[in-house]
Amino acid sequence: MPKHISQINLLKEFFVNNPKRDIAHPEVVDWATKEYSIRTGKVFRDPDRGVRLLAQKGFLIKVKKGVYKYDPDYVHDRHLEDFTPTQKKEILHRDGYRCVMCGRGVKDGVELHVDHIKPKDLGGKATISNGQVLCATHNFRKKNYKQTETGKKMFIRLYETAKSIGDTQTMNFTAQILKVFEENDVNGHIEWKK
Ligand SMILES: [Zn+2]
Repeated sequence: MPKHISQINLLKEFFVNNPKRDIAHPEVVDWATKEYSIRTGKVFRDPDRGVRLLAQKGFLIKVKKGVYKYDPDYVHDRHLEDFTPTQKKEILHRDGYRCVMCGRGVKDGVELHVDHIKPKDLGGKATISNGQVLCATHNFRKKNYKQTETGKKMFIRLYETAKSIGDTQTMNFTAQILKVFEENDVNGHIEWKK
């Protein structure tokens, strides 16, 4: 009879035995796949998904794309990284009870959230300076469309480089794209100085 073993626990076992080390996907995936087969005689499908789940749950720190780390101190502290009601109040007060991206507040009919600027799963702390007020829309957008920020920053850099060397064609091209960001109110918090 193959021993019953949970796939998630197997992944946890690997990380717990390799604490405080940056681990790329292939290392843990290869080990878990082989180990699961040895212990159960079955195939471990999609261990990547399990690793991502552990990061979402706060068991692992996502160091960068495809690289994760287990830090026992961090896991222990993580629940402390939620803002306390007092901190939330202070952040709301500091930001004027408005979303820092669109400026809308409760009287405009939007729900406000206190967001970790650097997310908890990237090691962000519950400090006043790491907090910001976002409306539900911008909070969702931040979580799900972070890449638009990278895009806007890239076009700003491109625009500035083109400007510095007097490349008007590239300046016009990037200015048009940045205008689209502004017209659609995407990433308004990233300032573009024309
Ligand atoms: Zn907003």
